[in-house]
Amino acid sequence: MLERVDAATVKELSRRLGCDKVGIAGPESFNLPSWTRSVIVLGQATLDEAWDYELYIAYEGKVLWSKPIYERLVAIAGRLALAISQAGCRAEPLSFEDSAALIDLRLAAVQAGLGTYGLNGLVVTREYGPRIRFGAVYTAAELEQDPQLKDYYCSSCSICVGACPDRALGPWGFDRSRCRAEFDPTPEMARLQEREQKRPSPAARLQCSLCISSCPIGKKVGRPFVPGLDGQSPAGEG
Ligand code: SF4
Ligand code: SF4
Repeated sequence: MLERVDAATVKELSRRLGCDKVGIAGPESFNLPSWTRSVIVLGQATLDEAWDYELYIAYEGKVLWSKPIYERLVAIAGRLALAISQAGCRAEPLSFEDSAALIDLRLAAVQAGLGTYGLNGLVVTREYGPRIRFGAVYTAAELEQDPQLKDYYCSSCSICVGACPDRALGPWGFDRSRCRAEFDPTPEMARLQEREQKRPSPAARLQCSLCISSCPIGKKVGRPFVPGLDGQSPAGEG
């Protein structure tokens, strides 16, 4: 429960809920309801590729799609929005389905001072490089906004450009139509994905992420082996 809603308490709760980074941006650049005054941008490091496994589970005649990192970010955003609402300020968590229509999460992360754009078209952070995903809560609370960073990591580097197998990155930026990780692939691209994707099981896939894994920024941050969760409880408000 939040006793008051200000930037410090919201960030503190976000970290207790398990976020690795949190920042606050204004609503002006996004397609949000008119009551929105602040966008809280939540960052979760994805140091292990397991966070990005896509699961396609056939269930009752439908195919359910899921990805661990998005499930976690939406769950954290939901709990944070609930805490802000219970403290008396309107707040909504950004759902995965709404994210494209309402908030450009990369732009929000840059505006909230969490990182800067890299040559790979992703947000590169000081601690984790591009190994991070973002979620958000938008709220009627007036929260102090964070300044944008002046960092730039790509001035003497083009490793991700060289690592891309499809030449989807270059001086022109990111060409989505060439990227083999495209969500809505052409038939030719779908055949390439079927051939090249990692598939730990028929329902689990891992898209290409060489433009992330090749980036030297934050590469040395360790990925601890977790032997089991017996006796531990997930991070939460307590
Ligand atoms: S996901 Fe793969 S194909 Fe797409 S831009 Fe990154 S490295 Fe290139
Ligand atoms: S690999 Fe190099 S050029 Fe690409 S995003 Fe990382 S620092 Fe920038």
